[in-house]
Amino acid sequence: MILLEGKKVAQKIKDELKNEVIKLKEEEINPKLAVIMVGNDNASHIYVRNKNRACEYIGIDFEEYLLPEETSQEELIDLIDKLNKEKEINGILLQSPIPNHLDINEAFKKISPEKDVDGFNPVNVGKLVLGQDTFISCTPYGIIKILEDYNIEIEGKHAVVVGRSNIVGKPMSQCLLNKNATVTICHSKTKNLSSITNQADILVVAIGKSKFITEDMVKPGAVVIDVGINRTEEGNLNGDVDFENVSKKTSYITPVPGGVGPMTIAMLMTNVVKAAKEQNK
Ligand code: NDP
Repeated sequence: MILLEGKKVAQKIKDELKNEVIKLKEEEINPKLAVIMVGNDNASHIYVRNKNRACEYIGIDFEEYLLPEETSQEELIDLIDKLNKEKEINGILLQSPIPNHLDINEAFKKISPEKDVDGFNPVNVGKLVLGQDTFISCTPYGIIKILEDYNIEIEGKHAVVVGRSNIVGKPMSQCLLNKNATVTICHSKTKNLSSITNQADILVVAIGKSKFITEDMVKPGAVVIDVGINRTEEGNLNGDVDFENVSKKTSYITPVPGGVGPMTIAMLMTNVVKAAKEQNK
């Protein structure tokens, strides 16, 4: 079994970006990311802090907008509109989750497609489906990059994606399809899940249930990508895959933490730099 060390690949990507940003700054291009957070979700604070650190490391300017829990949809949209118009801001990210009284999809729709570095605006989702150049959402994009970095062939492979969320499962399936995998998507209504996961050459799991994928659900020699981030009662992190037992059967597997998570941030940084370059063409 080979460990897919997302943390190392992400570091390599961040170092390349750092050099690229030095050169962009010589041309007076200063990439800048604005992050909007609404309410007080603890995990979101950690994610945003990590994004801020990555920006600092690479030399990307970072601006954080913390809106109170009781923010109205109109106030949120007004802020997005304002940031859309600010020339020096290249990327806008709305950190999820946001409070239940707000409609996140409506908000994603308002982020200008040119600044939509998370790739959640329907225009960018549509471009991904059409196989056009776009901002690919960061977690699936990072997973493709890590597979490529380890020279794992995707074309012709049977890829099974467990989970169909708009932010992970669906774009992941599309990315794998764009790379010529044969893709099966599973979800909570899927019958005989194990019989399907057992056919996977590449198994991507994004459901948010600790150690849900067990040894008997995985084909010997499979490549297993664990997107899940679950906090145990002791405060540790673990994935959706029972790593200890499943890893013995796999050819490659991502650890949690240190696998997909760091890649997600690295690809966000990649998208911000791409946005800055495109807006300054
Ligand atoms: P969601 O809760 O939005 O979606 C979960 C998906 O899993 C749904 O499609 C659901 O099916 C499916 N599902 C739930 N239970 C089962 C089951 N028993 N069998 C099969 N499918 C099931 O989660 P996200 O996609 O947002 O996130 C998934 C996990 O990934 C979480 O742990 C999250 O923290 C983590 N994550 C990690 C990131 C990273 O950078 N590493 C980035 C984003 C997320 P249905 O649609 O039918 O309800």
